[in-house]
Amino acid sequence: MSEHLLEIRNLNKVLPAGPDQTPATVLRGISLDVARGEFVAIVGRSGSGKSTLLYCMAGLELPTEGRVSLLGQDLAHLDRKAQARLRRDHVGFVFQSYNLIPSLTAWENVALPARLARRKADQSRVDAALAAVDLSAQARQKPATLSGGQQQRVALARVFAMRPDVVFADEPTGALDTEAGAQVLNLLRDTATDGCSVVMVTHDLQAAARADRVLVLRDGAVQHELHHPSAAEVFDAVALREDEVV
Ligand code: ADP
Ligand code: MG
Repeated sequence: MSEHLLEIRNLNKVLPAGPDQTPATVLRGISLDVARGEFVAIVGRSGSGKSTLLYCMAGLELPTEGRVSLLGQDLAHLDRKAQARLRRDHVGFVFQSYNLIPSLTAWENVALPARLARRKADQSRVDAALAAVDLSAQARQKPATLSGGQQQRVALARVFAMRPDVVFADEPTGALDTEAGAQVLNLLRDTATDGCSVVMVTHDLQAAARADRVLVLRDGAVQHELHHPSAAEVFDAVALREDEVV
């Protein structure tokens, strides 16, 4: 297996023209390698292509051109079923919305992916995942009785219970206050330190500075790549030029 968990080469994404629109280029020639256990943050202004890049990396969206290789497997060589299996067995997703099933308890939500994969939910693994996000005491509660931060931690436990090799997170702290966001971020930081790669899109530049590497996207291209930057360096890299008006 390749030493890189994820390899992306010359990714381009052009959206077809709408009724009164010209085709829009969303990604321009992006190449990127993500090592095992690396924590990569993607920042950039709204509309710069962050989510599109994340979804192309995960095989949820198709690039117009370029190659995506996940765990040494070229996604273009896998049919939909094989891609879905690869994601199920190796990839976790976290979104801004928690996507929990309201009628199930926290414990049942965490156990659900294993059940859907027709594996017996390993009770001790579910317990351990809930303990890792500090929610053992809330295991029998339904999502509506939990705070936003707690719900997002249930969503993280649901990912951790599957022991993925890579976690893709799109604005995981976007709906949370500073303290709850920091807890979620610490958990993502820890999971990367434990050997799971994390690719996180975020608006929060302070959060991005916790990553090993920060990519600044601009108009669908990587404008800056920073290694272990300070928060100030991330702010500077994303800062608007004086002639730019939002
Ligand atoms: P970001 O996550 O950085 O805000 P996105 O990846 O969501 O950016 O979007 C990049 C650009 O592509 C934006 O200009 C957006 O309007 C456009 N875009 C993305 N997906 C679609 C789509 N399905 N249909 C039309 N435009 C889209
Ligand atoms: Mg987005």
